[in-house]
Amino acid sequence: MRIYGHEQQLTMLRDSARANRLANTYLFYGMEGIGKKLVAMEFARSLLCPVSAPVACGECTSCRKALNGNHPDIFVFIPPTASIKIDEIRLLQEKSILRPFEATRKIFIIDDVEKMTRDAANAFLKTLEEPPESCVFFLITARYRSLLPTVLSRCQKIPFSPLSDDDLTKLLGELTSCDPLQARTVATLAGGSAATALAMFQEDFLAHRSNLFGALQRLILQKEMGIFSFVKAMGSDKEEVAKSLDIVRSAFRDVALFLVRQDTAGVINRDVEHVIREMAQRFSLRHCTEVSRIIHSAMRGLTANANKQLLLEALGLKIIGKMRG
Ligand SMILES: [Zn+2]
Repeated sequence: MRIYGHEQQLTMLRDSARANRLANTYLFYGMEGIGKKLVAMEFARSLLCPVSAPVACGECTSCRKALNGNHPDIFVFIPPTASIKIDEIRLLQEKSILRPFEATRKIFIIDDVEKMTRDAANAFLKTLEEPPESCVFFLITARYRSLLPTVLSRCQKIPFSPLSDDDLTKLLGELTSCDPLQARTVATLAGGSAATALAMFQEDFLAHRSNLFGALQRLILQKEMGIFSFVKAMGSDKEEVAKSLDIVRSAFRDVALFLVRQDTAGVINRDVEHVIREMAQRFSLRHCTEVSRIIHSAMRGLTANANKQLLLEALGLKIIGKMRG
């Protein structure tokens, strides 16, 4: 399995395994959708490989079972509901005291561990305090602050950073059929989260975005005449409008960058460079900053449940009002 990014974390874990200094419990924390669980699964596979641990050979029965998700000594628990209940923790505990079936260790990966109820967390503390021999626990969370301090203090904490634009672009290239420029744009807009980036593809984000850029272009060329299609392209429900506001803001950020550098290096919306160039003819740097502020306050208005239609019409008018000539 190909892992993008997180080389440091994997190296550190492998070094600990080689030095026989593995912790009983690791807490992987960091933003949602960046591959924490994937790293835990890959490392679990590596640890159990009888051929080349702590690196997975990829060929042996153990490696293949792990990859197919049916290794009897790797337990991955993804909470099916909004909370992890005490019964579910008890079941895991029962499994943890049994000897490994095939390997020399047993690995437990618990996703969204912050979902443990207080009772479940307190029950789990017993396992953390006296971890069964030959078990390694990987607790995974994107909400570090929601964990009980007593749980936190018993884990070795490993932070995970968002994926770099390069890594995310490569990942998208591998998983989707989009062209490299689009992949880079989505990677940048997704802020380093593979889950967010992939969701953008599923939601037909690219079509929505290209429609929105068309409307933005019309707004700038036709002014008042373009407002109707601009408001329409921004979307109807709150979530969609919020995403659209993000896109429009990224466009003005790009225009500002282009005005400063006079080239498209660092521009997010590279695939619609012509629109960015056209906007750069009509907005000064100061106007871009002002429009960004206007968009920011529109975002706040949206959160405060202002009338969307009026809010977007006003936004369109304000954008036109900032244009040169
Ligand atoms: Zn192997």
